[in-house]
Amino acid sequence: MKASTTLTLAASLVTLIIMGCNEKKTTVPHDHDGDGIPDHGPGAHGKPVPHDHDGDGKPDHGPGAHNNHSNNDHGHDHGHDHAEKVAGPNGGKIITAIEPHAEFFVTDDRKVRITFLDDDHQPIAVANPSVSIVCGDRSNPTTLTLTKEAYGMSMISDNTLPTGNNFPTIVTFKNTPDATPVRAKFTLNLSDCPSCTHKEYACTCEHAHE
Ligand SMILES: [Zn+2]
Ligand SMILES: [Zn+2]
Ligand SMILES: [Zn+2]
Repeated sequence: MKASTTLTLAASLVTLIIMGCNEKKTTVPHDHDGDGIPDHGPGAHGKPVPHDHDGDGKPDHGPGAHNNHSNNDHGHDHGHDHAEKVAGPNGGKIITAIEPHAEFFVTDDRKVRITFLDDDHQPIAVANPSVSIVCGDRSNPTTLTLTKEAYGMSMISDNTLPTGNNFPTIVTFKNTPDATPVRAKFTLNLSDCPSCTHKEYACTCEHAHE
């Protein structure tokens, strides 16, 4: 049998199955084996079982287990190679306090772009992250709220950083609505590093910082 014939047959089989399920007036809904008895209740179609990794239709574990890294080697004592002297894919600072890690990058127009990264520092999507930043003068701090960029997987601040180029910064992440907020605190030094191509906050070289 030629491949195209097989494909056509498979396609018409799919059509038959779909039509079979839609003909609720003349046949028993969800009676897939034709014995006149529904094989399952409504709503079962097109709804994958969450956490069913082996495809047996039963969840293999409860929710939240995917965030538990105890069963892989990313144990997070941060002895691994992105420790401190590696910049993110855009040349920003990698924040390792949050999982997945996030790149903090200041754009030319002084907005902050946050990009979540996998362990190979490739941008990844996080479903509904919440990121806010408080920075600048402690007695009159500036709050930045971030929203998803229209293009790509990053988040961008709606407003810009305060004036100045060296001030305390606190980034608060909440990657799911019921997650405990995670904070990263650092001094945002926007001066050019004298010895590498990055700004000081994302500096990757070994020169002494006061
Ligand atoms: Zn890490
Ligand atoms: Zn440097
Ligand atoms: Zn430096």
